Amino acid sequence: MPKPWFHKGLRFECTQCGNCCRTHEEYSFVYLAEGDVSALTEHLQLDRATFLERHCQEEDGWITLRIDKPACPFLNEAGGCSVYEARPKQCRTWPFWVENLKRTTWEGPVSDCCPGIGKGELVDADEVKRIAIETELWYEDS
Ligand code: SF4
Ligand code: SF4
Repeated sequence: MPKPWFHKGLRFECTQCGNCCRTHEEYSFVYLAEGDVSALTEHLQLDRATFLERHCQEEDGWITLRIDKPACPFLNEAGGCSVYEARPKQCRTWPFWVENLKRTTWEGPVSDCCPGIGKGELVDADEVKRIAIETELWYEDS
């Protein structure tokens, strides 16, 4: 197996800018697996039907957060996440998603969107791959 281009690891540290919680052409949906729906309904103390009606829509057969404004409805005025403890898996594991790990994507739209790319401590390649695979499985198993 050839080594991935990021075999020496990738640097990432969130600067809390909130940019990934705003819509961008390629990044306009927050997908919810069943585990995300459960965590959010519990956090918001809503029953499932009310949560889906109030906060969600369907996109290509997936449940996604309904984003009517140019930002996630859970982005608060201070630029933070109002459901941080129960935030969806994709929010927890950004930017280490399989589709982001192509070099051109990482160095292009991902870096353009996220000022945390290239900052902070090195995350080793095995950990990057572990997070990416865990994220894929989270949604596949939903
Ligand atoms: S865009 Fe990057 S740096 Fe900004 S909040 Fe999102 S993850 Fe953090
Ligand atoms: S759920 Fe929170 S972390 Fe995820 S996009 Fe919305 S505000 Fe951002």
